[in-house]
Amino acid sequence: MSSTTTTAGGFRIGVDLGGTKIEAIALSRDGQIAARERVSTPRAYAETLASIVDIVHRVEQTAGAIGAPVGIGIPGAVTPSTGLVKNANSVWLIGEPLGRDLEARLGRSVRLANDANCFAISEAADGAGAGAGVVFGVILGTGVGGGIVVHGRALDGPNFIAGEWGHNPLPWMTPDEFPGPPCYCGKRGCIETFLSGPGLEREYAESAGDARSSAEIVKLAETGSAHAVGVLERYHDRLARALASVINILDPDVIVLGGGMSNLPGLSEAASARLPRYVFSDSVHTRVMRNTHGDSSGVRGAAWLSA
Ligand SMILES: [Zn+2]
Repeated sequence: MSSTTTTAGGFRIGVDLGGTKIEAIALSRDGQIAARERVSTPRAYAETLASIVDIVHRVEQTAGAIGAPVGIGIPGAVTPSTGLVKNANSVWLIGEPLGRDLEARLGRSVRLANDANCFAISEAADGAGAGAGVVFGVILGTGVGGGIVVHGRALDGPNFIAGEWGHNPLPWMTPDEFPGPPCYCGKRGCIETFLSGPGLEREYAESAGDARSSAEIVKLAETGSAHAVGVLERYHDRLARALASVINILDPDVIVLGGGMSNLPGLSEAASARLPRYVFSDSVHTRVMRNTHGDSSGVRGAAWLSA
């Protein structure tokens, strides 16, 4: 065994390829981050490849993990028959053989997975879902996505969309909600149009008549604004409805909330309290939890991919 292989043996490299930044870490076997680097994401394919190769080499140098296996979380999915990226909101990745190109440049195998799956893998491995059999990891951010981990393994499915609840319609719509706002996917009333950050902000702007950020809406609610309180209560109820429809099908042990909107104060408790109204069961034992690893979940989950 060469010394470099021995050195790499204790580490895995995870890369989170986001829409605005690329982050890489070297993760030790016991889950400690030994090195971390971030760069802005170039908005072109060739430059994205070069940035990933560079950032992987830099964390390896810092951690002494030369040649470590690499997992990469991407904002999309890979079609297995072709190896080409699809469904990426970073559109310059679409149709590109990202995995093959990185393997050629890094000289080792590379595993790619959807970033929501990476979040779910991370939280199931040593986060809020640690020790649970079935974990549904939820991303509530500028978009709404999700990933399902069963006994430590992410579900993919033949269409590679397992857990993509954001483009199902909001369940149990009221007459004033129907048919819901138009979604970029071509449908109306998708869960994402209600539960994303822009969805909450649109709801507030429509009812209060002025535009506020999610953080400002929370502040207004804390100071007693009836509009803001009402908007947040509707958000809690919609989240509970959307999660209840997932529970009715998947019946997960734990639901972990992630993404920027998971920072709304008391969100997991508020959703949890409303679940019994909607879940088809006389009692609800599914735990709804805020994530443990915050912004690092995606990159940690990417590192676990290479296990
Ligand atoms: Zn949609």
